[in-house]
Amino acid sequence: MTVLVLGDQLTDRVGPLADAPDERALMIEARAFATRHPYHPHKRVLVSSAMRHFRDELREAGRDVDYHVVDSFADGLDAHFDAHPGDALTVMRPSSHGATERLRDLVTERGGTLDVVTNETFLCTPEGFDGWLEGNRLRHEDFYRYMRRETGYLMADGDPVGGAWNYDEENRETPPDDYEPPEVPRYEPDETTREVQREWDDAESWADPEAFGWPVTRSDALDALADFCEHRLRDFGPYEDAMVGDEWALDHALLSPALNLGLLHPREVVEAAIDAYEARDDVPLASVEGFVRQVIGWREFVRHVYRRGMPALGEANRLDATRPLPDVYWDGDTAMACLDAAVDGVRKRGYAHHIQRLMVLSNFGLLYGVDPHELNRWFHVAFIDGYHWVSTPNTVEMGQYAGDRFATKPYAASANYIDRMSDHCAGCQYDPDATVGDGACPFNALYWDFLAEHESELRSNHRMGLVYAHLDDKRDADALGGIRERAAEVRRRVRDGDV
Ligand code: SF4
Repeated sequence: MTVLVLGDQLTDRVGPLADAPDERALMIEARAFATRHPYHPHKRVLVSSAMRHFRDELREAGRDVDYHVVDSFADGLDAHFDAHPGDALTVMRPSSHGATERLRDLVTERGGTLDVVTNETFLCTPEGFDGWLEGNRLRHEDFYRYMRRETGYLMADGDPVGGAWNYDEENRETPPDDYEPPEVPRYEPDETTREVQREWDDAESWADPEAFGWPVTRSDALDALADFCEHRLRDFGPYEDAMVGDEWALDHALLSPALNLGLLHPREVVEAAIDAYEARDDVPLASVEGFVRQVIGWREFVRHVYRRGMPALGEANRLDATRPLPDVYWDGDTAMACLDAAVDGVRKRGYAHHIQRLMVLSNFGLLYGVDPHELNRWFHVAFIDGYHWVSTPNTVEMGQYAGDRFATKPYAASANYIDRMSDHCAGCQYDPDATVGDGACPFNALYWDFLAEHESELRSNHRMGLVYAHLDDKRDADALGGIRERAAEVRRRVRDGDV
């Protein structure tokens, strides 16, 4: 028997490697995976380097590891079955839709067998989620409460610690002007990472990568977790929705790349944060609760939404949005300060934090009318932590309101929101308070135009009543025609790369 270790399952603390410490491991680093899309260069380095480090750690621990660097996954399996005819492989269930079936076919064609077991890199099993859903609506908040009860995290005698499930109201502050976020730890590339970097040296890219500094080993990932708990957890909550100039990290955890590779387990991440909260007086409950909600709530929820929603979710387009993804997402060439900062972060390090993702990058795509699947592909290839199971529910359903599973209204916002939650507007060429005219913020005209364009779909949504009342006011004041002309002009300029 051999344990097949996929590139996002780099753990021997749970799953078949933990259950069978003496069995051989098989790892396949397939170049075709990395070249199929124009991935951010840091993502290619992250995955390959983390795999090679994990291979070395397994070998140091005494395990026999067959490691193949090959063009395609099929080539790697050919090499394995040449050496071990008829071998029985065991693998944790892959996260991507259809991957299990493709993998089984590849193994069977080569005379082997494949045993697919529970993917233990997540907290909530498919059976657990499906059982919960039998008596519940598909709503994140309800699932999150279920997970709090199941895990016992931040619970006391069956009730949430502090008396409330959710402290979002306390987590919408913006930092003072003189706020200096803690320094972000960087992990210098070692020889293994440099080797990978040399191998990808000739790859052309749309990105503008800074020096690579993401954790690629278990020990560096643990260090990143400890650093977050010690230095950034305190202010994570209050400033989690804020956007500040060039402060790309603020107090965000930056742990998703390591979590999504399996280097960290969600259980240990959450427990470390709760331990810090319980041991110290300076970590507010709102901070740790906000963090716990992201990890045991949202992350697990979208994984199961994806599992249950594919393949339909991968094709959903409720608003019939068909515009091609504009070049600004790749080149960042724009005078819009908020969009410029978000894309700049993606070009440099394959990262933007969650409010930039939702309220700038997704919001702009939604209002512009971009094809949700083009935007989903962009999130998948451009982000260091982007995988189909993450980006599809977050982009298609939540960001673009293209599915009909859990989103109860579109996340559409004008400059008003961005101005309130950031300092971008103060230094922007555009005026956040203007809707029409050359210097008016593009978000504003696009926002009202979006509401007018999709009125038949959205007006009956009771959560949209207030905004449609405002739209009526504009219509009554004969202002809507001018706004929609401005929106058409903005779209032309976006398409021409001149916004
Ligand atoms: S004015 Fe508009 S484009 Fe400029 S930063 Fe504000 S929201 Fe963004």
